[in-house]
Amino acid sequence: MSAESTLTFIGGAPKWPRLSKSKIATFEHCARRLWLSVYRRDLAKIDPPTELLFAIGHRFGELVREQVPNGILLDTDPRRVDDAIAETKAILSGPWNRPIFEAALQHEDVIVRPDVLQPDGWGGWRLIEAKSSTAVRNHHVRDAATQVWVARESGLCISSVIIRHARRRLTSPFARALTAPTVDVDVTSEIRNIIRSRSRVAAAAREVIRGPEPQRAVGAHCTYPFRCEFRDHCSQQA
Ligand code: SF4
Repeated sequence: MSAESTLTFIGGAPKWPRLSKSKIATFEHCARRLWLSVYRRDLAKIDPPTELLFAIGHRFGELVREQVPNGILLDTDPRRVDDAIAETKAILSGPWNRPIFEAALQHEDVIVRPDVLQPDGWGGWRLIEAKSSTAVRNHHVRDAATQVWVARESGLCISSVIIRHARRRLTSPFARALTAPTVDVDVTSEIRNIIRSRSRVAAAAREVIRGPEPQRAVGAHCTYPFRCEFRDHCSQQA
């Protein structure tokens, strides 16, 4: 199957899917996984442990929002992302001084939704990313760099960047453990060089989306740092 065979065409030109923080992260994990996640979601097999991790991550994101008073949550429905982008622009064009959850920002064809944008009191913003792990991982830092790249190119002044993670391991989205304290790690300096690579990485991800399914043999990267949902597909084609 080619990428173009799955697309709608507008004025004779293909309408390519836009990129996002998640798509760029998926590309940096494995180019083949990005292509499959765009065109062959039907081949994905999400196992119960991964589903549990998704549920915990979702609940942890809510918990972090509950920790930040007086914020506004924008529409998180991916089918209405253009409405969320317009709403974000309208909010940011006024004298807004409250936190924004899931603001929708776009630069080129890349859309990001920072978990929390918090006014820093000086006209800029503190960007907070919620991660339900017990430590900051390399891909969390790259994710934060992608968010900041798009936010700054959209005209926002991001003065600091925090990854807020769980203090202890979370095993259930419903357990009392979710009320456990969180830990803030300031990655503002760490992401500085990574931000410079974002334009190049986005261009490479775009090329993958516009081409045929890349081939990559299965290996250790299919289970670390997390288990890939396309393992069955790639294993059968090995
Ligand atoms: S199973 Fe491995 S090779 Fe296949 S898409 Fe996933 S990470 Fe890439």
